[in-house]
Amino acid sequence: MSPDPERRPQLLLIFGGPGAGKGTQTSLLGQSLGVPHISSGELLREHQRHDTQNVMSSGELLPDDLVTRVVLARLEQPDAAQGAILDGFPRTVAQARALDDWLEQRGGAIRAAFYLDVPPDDLVARIVSRREISHRGDDNAAVAERRVEIFNHEMPPILEHYAAHRQLYRIDGAQPVEQIHQQITEALEGRHAQ
Ligand code: AMP
Repeated sequence: MSPDPERRPQLLLIFGGPGAGKGTQTSLLGQSLGVPHISSGELLREHQRHDTQNVMSSGELLPDDLVTRVVLARLEQPDAAQGAILDGFPRTVAQARALDDWLEQRGGAIRAAFYLDVPPDDLVARIVSRREISHRGDDNAAVAERRVEIFNHEMPPILEHYAAHRQLYRIDGAQPVEQIHQQITEALEGRHAQ
C-alpha cells in the first residue's frame, strides 16, 4: 500500500504504571497539541464484553490481537489522521511491532515516547486513593498490586524497544503535574536532552 500523503500520522506514546499520571498528561497534551488522546483501557472498557471485563477487573492483560485491532481501528478514524497520543498501548513487544508495521504502511512515525517513572509503592497508593473518583473495579489494593507487578514485567522490553529506536524520554513522574507537562513539551520542542 502506498501511503496517503494526507495521512502520515505522528504518534506520541505515554508509558507509566497504573496510577502514574498517564491519563492526566495525555489529556493535557491532547488539549495543547489539538490531537485526540486514545486510551486502550478506555476503549476496551467501552466494549463492555463480559469476557474482557473479567480479565480487566483481574488486572491481567487482554490478548494482543484483540487490543491491537481495537486500537488500530480507533487510529483509522478521521480525527486521528494527523496523529494521536496513545496511553496504555503498546504494552507488549508484539503490540509495538504491530504498531510499527501499521505506521510504516501509512508513512507515519512515532514522534516520541515518554515514560513517567514512579516508584511501585507510590503507584499502589495512588491507585487506591483515586478509587473514589475513578469508580473502577480494578482500582483496589489487591488488584493494584497485581497490575503493578504485571507492569514491572511488561515494561522493560517495551522501553528497550523505543530506547533502541532513540524515541524514548524518561520523566520523573513524582514531580507536580504542571512540571511534567512542561518537560514533555520542552522535549517535543527539542529543548530537553534524551
Ligand atoms: P488501563 O486503563 O490502561 O490501566 O487498562 C485497564 C485494563 O485494560 C488492563 O489491566 C488490561 O486488562 C486491559 N488493557 C489495556 N490496554 C491493554 C493493552 N495494550 N494490552 C493488553 N491489555 C490491555
